[in-house]
Amino acid sequence: MAKSESYYVRKKDLIKGKLHPYLARREFSYSECIIPNSKLTSFGIEEVNTSTQFSRNIKLAIPLVSSPMDTVTESALAIGLALLGGIGVIHYNLNDGKEGNIEEKVRKSIPLQYKEAYNVKNFENGFLDNPITFSPEQHISEIVRSGGSTIPVTDNGKAHGRLLGIVKETDYSIKQHGHVQIKERMVSLKELRKRHLVIENSVLNASRNPLVTANNILLENRGLALAVVDNYGNLVSLVTRTDIDKNEEYPYATKGSDKRLKVACAIEVTPDGMERIDALRKIVDAFVIDTAHCFTSIMKDMVRYCRKVCPDVDVIAGNISTAEAVEYFFKLGVDAIRIGTGPGSACKTIEVTGTGRAQGSAVWECAQTAKSLSKKYGKIYCIADGGAEYGGDCNKAIALGADTVMFGRVFARANEAPGQRSKDPVTGEPLKSYRGMGSEGAMNQGNASARYSVHNSERRVAEGIEDKVSMMPLSEIVAEVIGGIRKGMFNAGCKNIPEMHKYARIYPLPPKK
Ligand code: IMP
Repeated sequence: MAKSESYYVRKKDLIKGKLHPYLARREFSYSECIIPNSKLTSFGIEEVNTSTQFSRNIKLAIPLVSSPMDTVTESALAIGLALLGGIGVIHYNLNDGKEGNIEEKVRKSIPLQYKEAYNVKNFENGFLDNPITFSPEQHISEIVRSGGSTIPVTDNGKAHGRLLGIVKETDYSIKQHGHVQIKERMVSLKELRKRHLVIENSVLNASRNPLVTANNILLENRGLALAVVDNYGNLVSLVTRTDIDKNEEYPYATKGSDKRLKVACAIEVTPDGMERIDALRKIVDAFVIDTAHCFTSIMKDMVRYCRKVCPDVDVIAGNISTAEAVEYFFKLGVDAIRIGTGPGSACKTIEVTGTGRAQGSAVWECAQTAKSLSKKYGKIYCIADGGAEYGGDCNKAIALGADTVMFGRVFARANEAPGQRSKDPVTGEPLKSYRGMGSEGAMNQGNASARYSVHNSERRVAEGIEDKVSMMPLSEIVAEVIGGIRKGMFNAGCKNIPEMHKYARIYPLPPKK
């Protein structure tokens, strides 16, 4: 190897004191670089602070974002991640499982996406917004099959129907009452009111801390469940003693001053996207304008439309991977950029189209360009999207200049993520689907049309793969990734993310022999 090509060089040769010249001369991915321990660590690991910013108005306690994919982010995952200090981006391909043409699907998906965002914004820790409910005419045996233990009974059997009573495990014997109608065994609304186990939502919300108030009411009245109703007697939510006992504190949750969790929604780059913006603008904290190749002139109209109709909602544009694209979006005034063309674990774009970029180089070039343009146009934030698997990859992205890291596959594994469930035929291990949004399956369901420009008139070429992943709770996934990030920051001698941006160096990692 020529001297200039050496992996190991003197400090003064490092580009901006950060990037090794060997890497500056070529395209590199996360697996081809490493952070050396070049700075003295003079603090304890407990002092490491992972707080960062997703976009101009959204601060996060951890630098993790979930991807808007139909096997990754709907409300359950967005709630879980926001409680832990990150943020979820809800995808726009929601459907009711019914057949229909693309236009009908898009029209239906808007209220469904609104509902998912609504679930996040209205989530209150400890309150069950959509409990399992039954109608009074159903049978006790059906409750047993559902696995529920404290069941509100409503006139139509739906979660927000008119409350008629509550039935608990202690109210029946499975042997004796399996064939009996629920109304025979439930505690009636009248009785619940007598025992102070029903409360109006407006009364509860007027208290300083609704959850503490609900807990006190349950304790005082020796109840196991408190039903929250609206002024018409319709069930709003249920609070149970077990939920309160289980209820963890989430001191780092991503919340606004209104104490509500923050959420982002993805928007397609088509005229329907504008309709979606109109429908969602009052409920979301950020829009992620979502297309695989975003350095296109139509993006400009989308960004401008967002800016015009909802100046308070942050706008994120992506995906991009070059300095030219960063400059274009800076001038349009976006609040964050999503960097990554081709590195995703379910991605076939590079093979199929020959376009894209190695993620390490893309993050470095885009983040450094963003940093220098910030002086002129104001700060925008960088999301490194795709190809990250471990905390180590996140640290490399951050050292290269990213503010947050977006995961698809890693979060697809969460029990909270949507997607088809199955079992490993040999081991019986629970599995779920993870698929690229440009995969055959996504195309067949009409879910690839906007992001991957799949039109009926053209030969359809899959840009993504379909896979199955093993499952675990989101909290465990996040704990593992964040554990790696904290250790890496400690090893690099950096107490926080701005220090990682400033001091952490990136060296080449020689390929394993
Ligand atoms: P992962 O974390 O490596 O799984 O990458 C997730 C990212 O891959 C997403 O946030 C998208 O940017 C990208 N992506 C999603 N679906 C596809 C696809 O079908 N082809 C190419 N890239 C995809």
